[in-house]
Amino acid sequence: MYSTIFSFKETLNRRAHIQAHPDWTVDDLLREPYAIFSELTDVQLEQLAQRAQSITTQRFGHMMRFFIPLYLSNECFNNCTYCGFSYDRKIDRYTLTDQEINDNVDLLVNKGFQHLLLLTGESAKNVDMTYFKHVLPIIRPKVAQLGMEVQPLSIDDYSELISLGLDSVTVYQETYQKDHYMMHHLSGKKRRFEYRLDTADRAAIAGVFRINIGALFGLSDWVFDAIALVDHLNYLYQSYWKTQFSISFPRITSIFDSTRTLWPVSDRQLVQLVCAFRCLFPDLGITLSTRESASLRDGLIHLGVTDMSAESMTSPGAYAGIDAEPQFSISDKRSLNEIKAVLLTKGFDTVVKDWDLSLHQ
Ligand code: SF4
Repeated sequence: MYSTIFSFKETLNRRAHIQAHPDWTVDDLLREPYAIFSELTDVQLEQLAQRAQSITTQRFGHMMRFFIPLYLSNECFNNCTYCGFSYDRKIDRYTLTDQEINDNVDLLVNKGFQHLLLLTGESAKNVDMTYFKHVLPIIRPKVAQLGMEVQPLSIDDYSELISLGLDSVTVYQETYQKDHYMMHHLSGKKRRFEYRLDTADRAAIAGVFRINIGALFGLSDWVFDAIALVDHLNYLYQSYWKTQFSISFPRITSIFDSTRTLWPVSDRQLVQLVCAFRCLFPDLGITLSTRESASLRDGLIHLGVTDMSAESMTSPGAYAGIDAEPQFSISDKRSLNEIKAVLLTKGFDTVVKDWDLSLHQ
């Protein structure tokens, strides 16, 4: 399991010894461990972007996969400084009924979505395995691909969900700096840093087809978390060759607890992250959500992104008109068709289905 290998001190040491020279080419930067995350000159960033674009075209062609998140519940027993669903927040808690799940899924399928990402808070009372085992059979027959972003589960639980049609698992470590992690995860089971760190192992051992990891950029020094993600991915690729992996770089710009420090990540640094991971891991899926602005998302299309969400709403059942507290606000509010039109002008095809249930057999 990765928690037995991951070392905060070693990662910090790597962070401290990054070496890069302003005259280095992209090849030089990629040869020297982690140098790609140093402060680049404009010329270096431009060259890195060109390299990333060329690798993306070579490996993925001109296509963009689309998915949409569906929040099933905003109930949560954890307190995270940055989240609208935190336990201590006095909001109305809501978990969708079967009818509301059907209404929302039908609506999304009619809009053209075939890949759903199911999300919940982490509430052992209402959104636990019993709940997941009940809702997957309702949703699965209606869509081509089903992912989940819920609490970290056991190997047996993931195995059971795979038998009910689970294809992918998303789990972000939030930050690999444990002291910062503890500072932002104030109470609840999410404080189990190591258990969360081993989630990708458990999902891969169970046989989950695609696993999406990431960090919530802004909680810590972005370079430290980028180095930690490189090490984590290298470990996962070496350990689980049958599994597909992807990565996300969600950024936060504000939190509810204003006494905590944030380490904002600029647009330029986000571009560097996307391009660097594309060059380091040519076959890696890279997901960009609607947290980012339309103009930034459009600008990153060529540079390495393979998966995008569209029309996202971050409260339970919002697509079918249920009024509940959102988890966070989104920036790119364009419709799937509007984004498709932009992609078309850039010579891209949109893919809403790249997976079929029959591939499980
Ligand atoms: S981030 Fe997740 S675990 Fe934390 S409060 Fe929000 S829903 Fe709960």
